[in-house]
Amino acid sequence: MTSPRQQGVVVLASGNAGKLRELAGILAPLGLELKSQDLFDVPEVEETGLSFVENAIIKARAACEFSGHPAIADDSGLEVDYLRGEPGIHSARYSGAGDAANNAKLLAALAGQPAARRSARFQCALVYMRHARDPMPLVCQASWEGLILEAPRGANGFGYDPLFYVPEYGCSSAELAPDLKNRISHRARASALLLEALRQR
Ligand code: IMP
Repeated sequence: MTSPRQQGVVVLASGNAGKLRELAGILAPLGLELKSQDLFDVPEVEETGLSFVENAIIKARAACEFSGHPAIADDSGLEVDYLRGEPGIHSARYSGAGDAANNAKLLAALAGQPAARRSARFQCALVYMRHARDPMPLVCQASWEGLILEAPRGANGFGYDPLFYVPEYGCSSAELAPDLKNRISHRARASALLLEALRQR
């Protein structure tokens, strides 16, 4: 159900309610109203890019095209140095069988490796496009450094959080209070950069 174009509306190229809430709060001070792409007829797009940035642009472009509004998209994942950056852009579908299987596959790939070879980081690319043919999308990138644990810890978060050890806090990101994680994560840092970039524009 496509609605008429409204001033100040920005579409989020995701149906994830948690992401919508988080980013809506960040954009509110700018007078921008963030709406889920589920309110528009935006089809699922194939993420054919080879980088987080390309995939975020692909998603934002589709959201612009089908909603007629500016759009924001993010793409994120985990990069493990010993695995030469894998699972990377394949993070969500690393095992093809969901979060628990992804974590089990990651543990198996790092089996026997000492802490010095378990360095990793979450990456986030956040993109803002004014329209589907925007030749200069705003691109904000941030990362969050950590180490891959030898066994899962904690029950908060999602994805690789139980295996991602955060040295500054001495625990996994699944053991951090959700509010704290949402202030220090790769997504939080990229969101802060986007807010600044939009303010300047
Ligand atoms: P997406 O960009 O939200 O689709 O995330 C891609 C995948 O990266 C997720 O399915 C998770 O496997 C992983 N990922 C991204 N951000 C996080 C995080 O904050 N915690 C744990 N896993 C994450």
